[in-house]
Amino acid sequence: MKNMLLPSRMFTLHQYPNRKIGVLGLAKKAGTNVFIYAAKQPVMAAKAVAGLAEVEDRQPLHGRFRGEEFSWYEDRCTGCASCAKLCPLGIIKIVTHPSGDDMEEGEKYAIDVFDIDIGRCMFCGLCVEACPYDAIHMGSGFEEGTYRRDELVVTVDRLRSAPKHPSNWFRPQLESKRYQPDGAQEAASGEVGRHEQPSLHDQEERWGKR
Ligand code: SF4
Ligand code: SF4
Repeated sequence: MKNMLLPSRMFTLHQYPNRKIGVLGLAKKAGTNVFIYAAKQPVMAAKAVAGLAEVEDRQPLHGRFRGEEFSWYEDRCTGCASCAKLCPLGIIKIVTHPSGDDMEEGEKYAIDVFDIDIGRCMFCGLCVEACPYDAIHMGSGFEEGTYRRDELVVTVDRLRSAPKHPSNWFRPQLESKRYQPDGAQEAASGEVGRHEQPSLHDQEERWGKR
């Protein structure tokens, strides 16, 4: 009934809209009884009695969850388009131009277009596996609902500006560092490659103690 009556619920794009909570629930969350809570937080208690108090209602995600977004590291991307060629649905569009007049082997192309149509994506992750430079990663967010299909195309500008929260899927080195994709911390470009040189400590752990 609330979903039909409240505009904020009818038009929300969030999978987990905030949940209404009563004063009993607030007191329980604060680990106290309702009288002590009301004495300490009279404003919140009054809001709860009036039905206006809300709390976040999100479930924790597994670190390897593959969301509806992508984390793309432009500094790692050469524009080789391996990801686009391997995508079974052909939904990645890449347009590049030479980034210099006398380009040599190993130099990068400049990226003009890097569109991913997540409206058709099946989140298989083959593009991530295909990338030789670990530049593209499955993301961890999933609340990409929109009212128009064409808004489901993730453009290069959006990829550039998106916070970098790659999923731990196919990235065991991130998991071993206890990085949490749905946390506040972003993953730096130097940490996300599969082929990063192991630290001296890691080398010692893996091979030195044998
Ligand atoms: S996850 Fe799969 S379907 Fe989606 S863009 Fe990558 S390869 Fe294509
Ligand atoms: S994301 Fe990877 S596979 Fe795709 S163009 Fe960039 S370097 Fe190539």
